[in-house]
Amino acid sequence: LGTTACRYDIDAVAECDSSNSRLLERAAAGAPSGTVLVAERQTAGRGRRGRSWISAPADSLTFSLLWRFPHQSDAPAALSLAVGLALVRGLEALGARGIGLKWPNDLLIGDSKLAGILVELQAGELRSAVIGIGLNLRRPNGLSEDVAAAGLDQALAALPTREVVLAALLAALAQTLDAYGSSGFASLRNEWQARHAWQGLPVRVSGGEAAEGLCLGVGDDGALNLDTPQGLRRILAGDVSLRAV
Ligand code: ATP
Repeated sequence: LGTTACRYDIDAVAECDSSNSRLLERAAAGAPSGTVLVAERQTAGRGRRGRSWISAPADSLTFSLLWRFPHQSDAPAALSLAVGLALVRGLEALGARGIGLKWPNDLLIGDSKLAGILVELQAGELRSAVIGIGLNLRRPNGLSEDVAAAGLDQALAALPTREVVLAALLAALAQTLDAYGSSGFASLRNEWQARHAWQGLPVRVSGGEAAEGLCLGVGDDGALNLDTPQGLRRILAGDVSLRAV
């Protein structure tokens, strides 16, 4: 795994409801940091706010990773952003180009979603996170036509096997989560912003307090800085959605 020493314990199941739900149970039972659960088929994949994440076995890579950090983070919301950057780094190491980040938790090709991230903290254990990742290798069969979704096959000349993609993502995650755990998101912020798909562009925020403005970038705590007609607004990475306008 490059310069970072990390031991992964990888388990694959043919089917489960949600790999995050199952791994949260294992986390509560004391599973070690680096435990990975790959789900061939998810019957109830979750996004944020109870929304569903659709995967299709041949077209998707769906897994969850348990990570235990040495200290409690003072900006846990930034973890989703660090994970997004790790995924882009991993996919770029495979030769993929043209992948952007959408605040706070998605990877895009153009305006279409390539991957989603769902970070959940282990109950009562603020230093332990279960990180769920759903990546479209191809646009999943069966996904409703009105969902703007992309596949990794659009960013690579030839699609590697799922095992090769998983290995590249886990290597990048180990390196990036180590940096996040020791120096926080501040050390990753500039690189995140350089890949921000909507940097400098107008967006509308909904789901929490509504706002509209130009994306100025993100802070060290992972908050999105918006230039609005009412002045500078900081949007915390809570349960809000962003749309290009
Ligand atoms: P938004 O897209 O509004 O920012 P979000 O980031 O909160 O929402 P998530 O909760 O991460 O979205 O993911 C759930 C949403 O992603 C669903 O409502 C659906 O529109 C979309 N979606 C579900 N499965 C896929 C998929 N395989 N590929 C792309 N998009 C998907």
